[in-house]
Parts: sequence; C-alpha cells; structure tokens
Amino acid sequence: MILSWLQRRRREKILATPFPSEWVPYLDKNIAHYRYLTDAEKARLRDDLRIFVAEKSWEGCGGLTMTDEMKVTIAAQAMLLVLGLAHNYFDRVLSILVYPGAYRAVTPDSSTGHLEPQDSSDRLGEAHYRGPVILAWSEVLEEGKHPERGHNLVYHEFSHQLDMLDGIVNGTPPLESAGEQQRWHDVMTREYDALIRASEHHHATLLDKYGTTNEAEFFAVATECFFDKPTQMEHRHPQLYALLREYYKQDPASRVARKF
Ligand SMILES: [Zn+2]
Repeated sequence: MILSWLQRRRREKILATPFPSEWVPYLDKNIAHYRYLTDAEKARLRDDLRIFVAEKSWEGCGGLTMTDEMKVTIAAQAMLLVLGLAHNYFDRVLSILVYPGAYRAVTPDSSTGHLEPQDSSDRLGEAHYRGPVILAWSEVLEEGKHPERGHNLVYHEFSHQLDMLDGIVNGTPPLESAGEQQRWHDVMTREYDALIRASEHHHATLLDKYGTTNEAEFFAVATECFFDKPTQMEHRHPQLYALLREYYKQDPASRVARKF
C-alpha cells in the first residue's frame, strides 16, 4: 500500500506521543475481548485505534454529542477486527455517524435535498459502499461489554466494509489465493444453506438467523459469532471457524482459552 508522505508523517506524529492514559479505562471496561490480547496485540491495537480516531470524521446524530469514550470504543472494535491483517484503517470510510440508539433511516429527498426519514423500521447500523458507517451507540456499548450475547454491530458493519473492498457486496472479501477462494466458496455455501434449512425448520442455531438474508449478511453474522462466541463456533462449525481464522489471521478461541 502506498501512503503519501504527508499521511505517513501525520501518523508518525500521532504515534510519537504517549497513548492517552484516560483512554485506557474505555478499553478495559467497554471491550471485553481486550483482556484476552497479548501485550504485543494490545500495543498494536492501541496504536491502530489512535490513527483510526484521528483520521475519521466523527458525527454525533440525533442529538448525540461525540465523546472520546465513543470514538475509542468504536475504533478499538473496528481495529480488533483487522488486527491480524495488513490494512489501511478502512481508508474508504471517511466518516462515522453515531446515533444515541436505534434510529430511522434517512435518504435525501430528490426535490429538496433535505434528509427525509424513510418508512422502514428502526435501524441499529449501516455500512455504505465508499461511504459512512452508521452506528447506534447504546448497542455498541452493550455489545462490547457482553460478547456472550453473540452480537456486535461494529464487527458486523466493518465486515461489510471488508466485503466491499473488491467492489462487490457478496459475502466474499478479497482473498489471498485460488485455494482460499475455493474453500471460501465451498464452506460458505454449505454453512449458508444449512442455516437456511435450520431456519425453515425453526431449529435453534448458534449463528443469528439474520444471516439467511443473503451471502453478505451471512459473512457479517458469521464474523460476529467468530469473535464473540469463538469456542462454541469452533465446536459447532469447525470448518467455518477454520475458514474465518485463515481469513482474519486471528484465533479467538485459543485466545480466550489461554490462562492468565
Ligand atoms: Zn448487515
């Protein structure tokens, strides 16, 4: 990846200062997964999230005033997702819009240009192609603290951004080799079909049934499960777990099993 000298210098300048000590409790309190990281992983995450916080435009919506706690909590989870990958801080995502809680989706009115609420139901988050990520803060905070519930809006929306890196939203992010592509196709197709069958028969599933919506949502839902319920996923969906471990280059199941 080619960085402009200006961007490189800005990043070096950010990292030349010590990590803000008042941000540490946000990581300890709000990101349950943080405690499972090694010291080296924690150091990388802290560096990555500082750059992410600095480079995004943060907008509070629906009366919300952005705080450092919100920025750090969101940035930490976005950067945790790609901790094992070479990345450029989701450089296509220029802004993060944050609502206090569930919100009504808005679209620009074609005649006036004003943002008009849509008729659709309340939303918790969205990821737009080469556009903003929109998040409900109440969800982000609860889910970071309680991974055992198996939902994580930040992982979900940013996995859509990974999916979009090749320009197609189809549940397949750019992969490294033809072999990985083949494995991805085989395993994802099998698991997706199995979730649809289980859903049709009203069977209980580890993966959220929202994943049956389409392949893109399946990848996002599987990602949430991979980081939030890795031990159960490795046990119940070993091939899917192995596939995501290969892709994300992280092994959350062995991470959470490590003794401290
Ligand atoms: Zn989604």
